[in-house]
Amino acid sequence: MNKKEISDAGWNYDNSYSRLPDLFYTRQEPEPVRSPHFVIFNDELAKTLGLDEQVLNSDQGASVLAGNEIPEGADPLAQAYAGHQFGYFNMLGDGRAVLMGEQVTPSGERFDIQLKGSGRTPYSRQGDGRASLGPMLREYIMSEAMHGLGIPTTRSLAVVKTGELIIRETYLPGAILTRVAASHLRVGTFQYAASWGTKEDLKSLADFALQRHFPDLANAENPYLHLLQEVIRRQALLISKWQLVGFIHGVMNTDNMTISGETIDYGPCAFLDDYDPATVFSSIDREGRYAYGNQPSIAGWNLTRLAEALLPLLHEDTEQGVSLAQDVLAEFPKLYRQHWLAGMRAKLGLYTEVQEDETLIEDLLTMMYKQDADYTNTFRSLTLQKPEEVAMYGSDEFNFWFEQWQARLDTQPETKAEAYELMRRSNPAVIPRNHRVEAALEAAVNQADYSVMEQLLDVLKDPYAYTAEQAEFAALPPKSAVPYRTYCGT
Ligand code: AMP
Ligand code: MG
Repeated sequence: MNKKEISDAGWNYDNSYSRLPDLFYTRQEPEPVRSPHFVIFNDELAKTLGLDEQVLNSDQGASVLAGNEIPEGADPLAQAYAGHQFGYFNMLGDGRAVLMGEQVTPSGERFDIQLKGSGRTPYSRQGDGRASLGPMLREYIMSEAMHGLGIPTTRSLAVVKTGELIIRETYLPGAILTRVAASHLRVGTFQYAASWGTKEDLKSLADFALQRHFPDLANAENPYLHLLQEVIRRQALLISKWQLVGFIHGVMNTDNMTISGETIDYGPCAFLDDYDPATVFSSIDREGRYAYGNQPSIAGWNLTRLAEALLPLLHEDTEQGVSLAQDVLAEFPKLYRQHWLAGMRAKLGLYTEVQEDETLIEDLLTMMYKQDADYTNTFRSLTLQKPEEVAMYGSDEFNFWFEQWQARLDTQPETKAEAYELMRRSNPAVIPRNHRVEAALEAAVNQADYSVMEQLLDVLKDPYAYTAEQAEFAALPPKSAVPYRTYCGT
């Protein structure tokens, strides 16, 4: 491999965030690590970022993505933010991550490049600023799987093993994830500005968000109300997409909700297996605050916190500001429901809309709940025209439902073949099944065998392809007596 300079990797950093008032960040270089090397590298993503994947996927590239070398133009900083964690408000901030800068791609798009696990910052509190290999690989797998599913998300460019051990309950291998995001602005960033900044600071942040994500709105009559409305729209779409594929985020704290509408912070997230709205996988969510079925209402709660933070900018008169905010917040459940219904219709092959569809959908979900039917595989089996494979098959209730559904398909102008085509595009053949993710992580972390993870990532790239290999990955594990548990990514 020819030795090129780091700058030849194609870095084209700008740092517009660092032009915000000082209170929004602290300049912070990553703490160097002993012997960085890649355990996974995302060639395809590197290319879309305008990076030379061959130059970057090297020892020197690993050194850069571990933070040991800082490319020209980078201006590393830790971002300040606050947030409601399980309902309680706290000052937070990047305690184990630094934003290196914003990579501006050849087409002019701008992406945050963040190193997660890069060492202590002024916001670390008791933490060591580090991350361990398992959770960083988990974020890599889950975020790339979400991208494959067509769901807005932060991406993962690489995971570097640091060659250092970190202390948790035991010693674990340290790692750094390179996270790529439309931005790292969170609901909690606005809460931070509203709590610790002046109105001018808050305005700077809101203008920054508008410029970054909604440039067309900057000249609108009340741009800050539009900002709130756009975030509400994007989140309504995002959460509907989560629900439609059975994704459970696990920690929907306000600091883990973006302004861009991307999914962020893959900690204890997991995919629903048996359909049950009360499903919780996270070990720290003892009361089920962030259960699958609660996600839409929690999103609404978080957006209300965003509206509160923006209030001083919405109107000179607080009461009128509150009234404006309430009107746009009231849109959220309606928008969410519209997106969800549209998605559910597509999952059932319906191109047209009639009122009774809602009953058809709810009846199916109720049967699935009663029969402990697997969420993904039920829709997959219907898509493959194999109703005999669904858990409810054979019951009178299911036969009745199936006939109603088939009759409904006959009422639309599209052919049955077209209906099943729509279903293929709307129902993933494969999701990152919990046992598959665990197996991939086990092999990687304990055996240094990355092939299991690579194969899984490969299968998840286009989950709507319905390949033979995906059929294998759709298989369910034997029922376990112990409920699946996930842990926060530390
Ligand atoms: P998260 O659970 O990743 O959303 O993080 C919540 C807060 O805890 C953020 O402020 C993180 O930066 C901080 N944090 C998490 N893990 C660590 C760690 N190992 N060291 C320092 N701060 C951490
Ligand atoms: Mg977080």
